[in-house]
Amino acid sequence: MSPSDDRRSADLTALYQDLILDHYRRPRNRGSLEHADATVTKKNPLCGDVITLQLELDGDTVRDVKFAGEGCAISQASASMMTQLLKGRSAQDIGHVAATFTRMIEGDSTAAADASLGELRALSGVARLPQRQQCALLAWSALTQALVSHG
Ligand code: ZN
Repeated sequence: MSPSDDRRSADLTALYQDLILDHYRRPRNRGSLEHADATVTKKNPLCGDVITLQLELDGDTVRDVKFAGEGCAISQASASMMTQLLKGRSAQDIGHVAATFTRMIEGDSTAAADASLGELRALSGVARLPQRQQCALLAWSALTQALVSHG
């Protein structure tokens, strides 16, 4: 790796950290739904993270989504970024994104390059932090349970 590659990689890391902090400070789709079809709360005792996810469904299509919670930047940013990808999509389609995201967090570099993950790719560095993987996956665990419990 040349010194300029090093710098590019450092710039990318800084960009990703900015994106994670932006979602942590200004979470998207935060709040609660008046007519939720599914509500799931998940906790990550390793870090103290809590996520409550609510879905409004039309058949198996997500019509609206809100989340509430507290915890570390990784857990809250993952939830915020995740909610951006859900509206108007089917449970099957969402299941595919969830599987890709999980593979990325577990270190699969092909998954980390998958454009379908959008801003979630900013969390690819979590693959190198095994003790933080449950933080990144917490909202997704709530999502999977919400879709399954409704279906
Ligand atoms: Zn955490």
